[in-house]
Amino acid sequence: MSATATSLAPKERLELLFAELAELTGQRNAIDGRIVEIAAEIDRDELAGVTGARSVSALMAWKTGVAPRNAESVVAIARRLDAFPRCVQGMREGRLSLDQVGVIAERAADGSDAHYAQLAAVATVAQLRTAVKLEPQPESESKPEPRREFIRTEDGEHTTYRIRLPRVEAAKFDAAVQSHHDKVSAEWTRDHGEATGDQAPPFPNRVDALMSLVEAGWDSDVARRPHGAHTTVVVHLDPEKHSAALHLGPVLSDADRRLLLCDATCEVWLERHGQLIGAGRTTRTISRRLRRALEHRDRCCVVPGCGATRGLHAHHIQHWEDGGPTELWNLVLVCPQHHREHHRGGITITGTADTLVVTDSDGDVLTHGPLARPPTEPAPVVEPCRGPLGERAYWRWYTPFQPPPPTNN
Ligand SMILES: [Zn+2]
Ligand SMILES: [Zn+2]
Repeated sequence: MSATATSLAPKERLELLFAELAELTGQRNAIDGRIVEIAAEIDRDELAGVTGARSVSALMAWKTGVAPRNAESVVAIARRLDAFPRCVQGMREGRLSLDQVGVIAERAADGSDAHYAQLAAVATVAQLRTAVKLEPQPESESKPEPRREFIRTEDGEHTTYRIRLPRVEAAKFDAAVQSHHDKVSAEWTRDHGEATGDQAPPFPNRVDALMSLVEAGWDSDVARRPHGAHTTVVVHLDPEKHSAALHLGPVLSDADRRLLLCDATCEVWLERHGQLIGAGRTTRTISRRLRRALEHRDRCCVVPGCGATRGLHAHHIQHWEDGGPTELWNLVLVCPQHHREHHRGGITITGTADTLVVTDSDGDVLTHGPLARPPTEPAPVVEPCRGPLGERAYWRWYTPFQPPPPTNN
């Protein structure tokens, strides 16, 4: 903004700023259109695997430094380029935004390209979302199950859980809680039924029922554990021959053997020439303390661009069977997928935890940051984009997209 511009009246300043916004928005839409095409090429030719990224959208989020949700839109459009040529052309020409076309590509029916290309020229993202929802829904059998969720939030002295289940599983959950509510209620009545004095604890509610359910689950797990068979994977290892077999099971591949040897929950029995020489648990097992220290240090999967935080494995950088010690400097947290990929020979993990180097399957070093750098090419030449009209939508007069009746051929 130049100094002279600030001497203008607010209305005029805004006009100038809007003109610049329109110019930039057009360019950004055109650039997003090209980014979508690049994602489509990576997806179509399955190039993402080389990088060790978990998915094309994870790769796009990593390399462009955008939020995962944003990258999901890019990939949703990329996967339906053929179904929405006009909408994508609208992006390439700077007229339609990534978010507008993303809403269409994520939910709209095949064959609706022309319908939405026209609508998107005037409709906001929210209006497009409504329009897509007004499409007649296919029969319920093909409707996806609602997403299952387990959300835990800590607030001061309490922790709040929110669980979201599809109907059938919710019914199972309700029945289990109900049966335990019956049980704890019966117990309360037996113990305190007559006495209504102040000594009696409050009548059990559904939280008590849930905790009773949790404890019952614990008890049965503990009862099972001494036999070991259900909760522990047992491996017989011949360290000299570098071969291992599952207990009463098949010989393991090299990749599976190394993967299991990293995994602290498996029990390893050392053998030489088929003779048992002892259990190798002590050196390999990751203690609670060590695990906490690792979690505190690494926070998430250490493979650049991953960021996974769930079900992480502790991996021995120098493999345990090659003499790598179970010490903090030789351990890193990796997600199960990257762990498998590493032991299958996909990505390499070398160095110590402090000087870690991760390479892809071609030996190129993976780096954490996005690819962004100052542009050297001129911005795409497109018309300024003033965005959707933002007029109130009169849904009563709107005709949703109607898929053509199926033809019998
Ligand atoms: Zn490992
Ligand atoms: Zn990972």
